[in-house]
Amino acid sequence: MNDVFETLESEVRAYPRSWPAEFAKSSGAIQTTTDGKEYLDFFSGAGALNYGHNNPVVIAPLIEYLQSGGVLHSLDMKTPAKRRFLETFERLILRPRGLDYKVMFPGPTGTNTVEAALKLARKVTGRHHILSFTNGFHGMTLGSLSVTGNSMKRRGAGVPLTNTSVIPYDEYLDSAMSDLVWLERALQDSGSGIDTPAAVIVETVQGEGGLRAARAEWLRRLEQLCHRYEILLIVDDVQAGCGRTGTFFSFEDAGIVPDIVCLSKSISGSGLPMALTLFKPEHDVWSPGEHNGTFRGNNPAFVTATAALEHYWADDEFQNELRDTIAALHSRLEEIAQSVEGSCVRGRGLLAGLLFEDAEHATRIAAEAYARGLLVETSGPSDEVVKIMPPLTISSAELERGLDILTEAVRQVVRSPELAADA
Ligand SMILES: *Cc1c(COP(=O)(O)O)cnc(C)c1O
Repeated sequence: MNDVFETLESEVRAYPRSWPAEFAKSSGAIQTTTDGKEYLDFFSGAGALNYGHNNPVVIAPLIEYLQSGGVLHSLDMKTPAKRRFLETFERLILRPRGLDYKVMFPGPTGTNTVEAALKLARKVTGRHHILSFTNGFHGMTLGSLSVTGNSMKRRGAGVPLTNTSVIPYDEYLDSAMSDLVWLERALQDSGSGIDTPAAVIVETVQGEGGLRAARAEWLRRLEQLCHRYEILLIVDDVQAGCGRTGTFFSFEDAGIVPDIVCLSKSISGSGLPMALTLFKPEHDVWSPGEHNGTFRGNNPAFVTATAALEHYWADDEFQNELRDTIAALHSRLEEIAQSVEGSCVRGRGLLAGLLFEDAEHATRIAAEAYARGLLVETSGPSDEVVKIMPPLTISSAELERGLDILTEAVRQVVRSPELAADA
């Protein structure tokens, strides 16, 4: 078959290799292929579609904006769409959480906000060194790659990735001793060989690196260490933010206040590209235009972002419903994990995973799920985790249906008698 995707599109394409379907339409948690087959989506655009596909809450105001002749592209100029977004973000997100952040619009992608964060941290502190964590993922441009763990992705850089060091993430060493003891010693010891870093960059849940979730007390200890040594704490909330873990920011339960926060993926609420870099006002040391980007002013994204914030974050209702969805998901995942030896549940909120001892199992389970009409991807350095990431707005019936398919796929691959009995 002369298929343009195979003949013309680069070998770099990845998802269509495991999901060869051509997706034509989508609504909520459902994607429909060109031939009319429906898939339940537990992937959510890798976290860019927290409110589901084509949610009318964001689509209606978007259509209205497009038809009104509103500005589409504006670099960093003032527009009413941007004004409304900033006012709404301050009113519904920052102020109720007592967060005093300045808002920067970098380019519209996750890696753009990470690059801005790293650059700012270096400028604020006058230091060059950045610490990141094992299995961290922060994006594909050189600065972001330099703090990303995955060796295949790092090799893709083609140049040495420098001015960074990697330290163990929470429970990486599986020891009773906190993994931060090493960092503490190294910072105290002028002979440790670790240059005092400008910043530490961390994901509270490692979306791409295997769904490890840092404990709240570990995050608090990390924050304390950063404060003691005047190191900036950057939380990359590109994937875990915007409600994914049950609260708007993934670090709210831990009670920490990062110096810099990176948001992208679901901030537009619609899948349109948009990113923010938030930082404490005292770190706002940029000169005008010192960092820029042609696509900082994606006004359709501002319109959908504002609509999503107003609809879902104006009161506690959405968060309360989310709590029930999270509980339902985790109880079913625990059931599956308990029926498979060496398996366990990872992650937090609707950024969850099932770890399998035999790494091949996860890939095969994802393939079996696809064959049964469910989109789930794998995560982790050996793709050893099945990643479960439904839209936050999923109905309980759809959630249960997807989990039934997942259970069936696990049973097929692992041949667990316990799961067979339940089925
Ligand atoms: C996806 C992701 C990025 C990169 O975002 P892009 O839009 O792909 O550049 C950065 N950090 C985290 C935690 C991510 O999940």
